[in-house]
Amino acid sequence: MGKKIVNKKVYTIATLGSHCSLQVLKGAKEEGFKTLLICERKRLNLYKKFNFIDEMIVVEKFNEILDKACKERLAKTNSIFIPHGTLIAYMNNKQIESIKTPFFGNKWILRWESDRKLKQKLMEESRLNTPKYIRSKNDIEKLCIVKLHGAAGGRGYFLASDKKTFEKGAKKLLEQKTIENEDDLYIQEYVIGVPTYFHYFYSPINDELELMGIDRRYESDVDAIGRIPAKNQLCIESEPSYNVVGNIPLVLRESLLEEVYAMGERFVKSAKRLVPPGMTGPFCLEGVYDREGKFFTFEFSARIVAGTNLYLNGSPYSGLIFDKPMSMGRRIAYEIKRANMKKRLNEILT
Ligand code: AMP
Repeated sequence: MGKKIVNKKVYTIATLGSHCSLQVLKGAKEEGFKTLLICERKRLNLYKKFNFIDEMIVVEKFNEILDKACKERLAKTNSIFIPHGTLIAYMNNKQIESIKTPFFGNKWILRWESDRKLKQKLMEESRLNTPKYIRSKNDIEKLCIVKLHGAAGGRGYFLASDKKTFEKGAKKLLEQKTIENEDDLYIQEYVIGVPTYFHYFYSPINDELELMGIDRRYESDVDAIGRIPAKNQLCIESEPSYNVVGNIPLVLRESLLEEVYAMGERFVKSAKRLVPPGMTGPFCLEGVYDREGKFFTFEFSARIVAGTNLYLNGSPYSGLIFDKPMSMGRRIAYEIKRANMKKRLNEILT
């Protein structure tokens, strides 16, 4: 946990210009904060369009936030930094953990998101039903999905149904220098079902878990394959990718909601035990429902996910909890505001 922060400073909400930054800063403005965007020069034209961004730090590359000049500006503006997927994609765990700017949520848990073994441990400790992990290519008996480590956005994944097809897929990645050896790959049983992503928010301030929204991803090319006839599909040489291009809103059968909450609550409980101070703020459980309506969690994100961008004006679920339109970005700012009023900022920052 961070230092106890109890003064009446005017805080600025800061984030990297990408992923869900518009939603985060708009929400911060709605809750009365100043806003700051760390913006790559090449994206200035886009972010200049939005008047809820008060200040920008222009950088050539995002890892400049570790440099003295950037750190000083963040300190001068009393910035609280909101992490998202771009931070994980651009920086390693050591760099993230070295960030000195007050960091919303638990920066230590991001290591558990990017390391597949730690990730599996946290999911198992939370008693989530996960697809079977296959230790060796020699053990592949059923259809499997072979993944890269880290938040690759589904890029480079391939399917394998035996050792031979695994080696064929791995060879391609080795040739492209995407991986250095086969051990860089993670083999998981493929579950046939419909992908579903749950957006949660856990507040340590009122010790409550909120389901803020649900989405499914729109992935190229897996979602494109069905648009061509089977005879043409058979002629496609290359492996279809799982590259996320956008998100589609989803509402669940109401009878499934109880389990959705129970899964999230178990996750929060085990995160508290394994990675103190626990799963503060937004997170996402990601998986598929099979034909029996059984949910298999294959991933989690221990921070805000881009699927929440759908619900700038609230979702069918956040609308059940809040009387005002509540995006995930705004929810974060609301948490910071309340924690500050209660002099409990130290509980939500690391
Ligand atoms: P991920 O990067 O793990 O979120 O996975 C990217 C995409 O791969 C998902 O959105 C799913 O379409 C698919 N996927 C990942 N793991 C599995 C699995 N075990 N079974 C079926 N589909 C999966």
